[in-house]
Amino acid sequence: MRIAHVASEAVPIAKTGGLADVVGALAKALGHMGHRVFIVMPLYRQTMNGPIDAEPVMPDIDAGEIRFRIYRKHIGPVDYVLLDAPRLFARPAPYGTSDGDYPDNPIRFAAFARAAILAISTVIGGADVIHCHDWQSALVPLLLGRDPLLGGAMTGTPTILTIHNLSYQGSFEPWAIDAARLPRELFTPEGFELYGTVNYLKGGILTASRLTTVSPRYAREILTPDFGYGLEKVLEARRNRLSGILNGLDTGVWNPSTDPYLARNYSRRDVTRGKRACRAALAAELLLDDDDSPLVAIVSRMAEQKGIDLVAAAIDGIVASGLRIAILGAGDDAVQNEVLEACHRRPGRAAVRIGYDEAHAHRSYAGADLLLMPSRFEPCGLGQMIALRYGTLPVVNAVGGLADTVRDLDTDPTGGNGFRIAQLTPEGISAALRRAAKTVRNPSRLLDARRRAMAENHDWKRPARTYEALYTELLA
Ligand code: ADP
Repeated sequence: MRIAHVASEAVPIAKTGGLADVVGALAKALGHMGHRVFIVMPLYRQTMNGPIDAEPVMPDIDAGEIRFRIYRKHIGPVDYVLLDAPRLFARPAPYGTSDGDYPDNPIRFAAFARAAILAISTVIGGADVIHCHDWQSALVPLLLGRDPLLGGAMTGTPTILTIHNLSYQGSFEPWAIDAARLPRELFTPEGFELYGTVNYLKGGILTASRLTTVSPRYAREILTPDFGYGLEKVLEARRNRLSGILNGLDTGVWNPSTDPYLARNYSRRDVTRGKRACRAALAAELLLDDDDSPLVAIVSRMAEQKGIDLVAAAIDGIVASGLRIAILGAGDDAVQNEVLEACHRRPGRAAVRIGYDEAHAHRSYAGADLLLMPSRFEPCGLGQMIALRYGTLPVVNAVGGLADTVRDLDTDPTGGNGFRIAQLTPEGISAALRRAAKTVRNPSRLLDARRRAMAENHDWKRPARTYEALYTELLA
């Protein structure tokens, strides 16, 4: 099959979050299965590895008076098609700065959607399916066959829209319609209108041939008001086209037996010794007490979604239970300050590192006994899958992908792989950690649980096969 992914970010070209990992890894897995796979994405000021080292291909594309140059780059089995309109995309970051989103985002991503369709049609010579990701490419299914500026390009091509996080929707004031040159007749409840605003994701949800989310549980949750962010009724109307496919993990990057960042590599066979060495190194690096108490880690964006504000309030209780905690994260200033303040009160027992630090993240997963993820919602979550692979037992709020991947060891001693927080409050978090610490302090139970966790397979082969089946169904 010829499969064209349209996304605003993908590794190894541009990344702000998990979306980039998923798009890059899924495309690579599909490519290795023998498909012809493209990723169509904007070219930002530079790629993750510096300025682009490719020549533009001819001809340029005109997407509603915005001219795009096209660059192509083969990386492994994937053909990256990079759309370059410097006035719109050559900026410090893809979506905005700490001052907020770029005000012309509706213009930028409408132009991107058009240019992507035209590039698929002319530059790469067509595709059997177009797979879109999140609001930034959600206009693609809507505009296909409905936008006069496209001249009918790719009309009738099956489309898939994957929702990686429903809380980001591309929601704009109605001025965006003319500014982005969108067809005015689509500003209706059957199009991209939502309560008087323009909503790009909604347009895609209503028009894509199939919808997916990144875990089965999240696919059900988003049909409810608690998780639907105002789109639950729109999604309900299309629920028979909606399914959840759990993300995979790049098991080449996340592998404790080859991970270059660790104090000591280890596998299932020598997990006890390996993790002991990694834990001692992590504690030393963070000036935590050098003792045998269980070590809890957090590796997370500091955002409302992740429940880190609850952790800040729980730190005294966690420390009082005899545990140590090591937090790595960056994001919301208010949450960061709460965490910093709470940790500074507990030197030797609680430590925080603010920032995005890949190497330290690896050392945290390896060195911790427990990984804490008290997310309020979690479309899939990678942290718990990484933790399992590193023999670190996840302690999670059982929502979304966390519910699909973590089974409680106390309810299921022979099949469990982690712990579920019964009540998402500071007290509930401390209570779950106290319960988890009992297993950590019991060597034979701990070894058994770690080995079972490490034996789980979360690589991309299975999800890639499921997406392949979905494409095949659409082409039938
Ligand atoms: P989300 O995409 O919502 O942030 P996921 O759990 O899907 O959450 O993915 C988070 C990824 O980002 C994980 O690979 C995690 O290790 C990484 N990560 C998050 N925060 C940091 C940080 N401060 N430093 C390094 N890596 C981080």
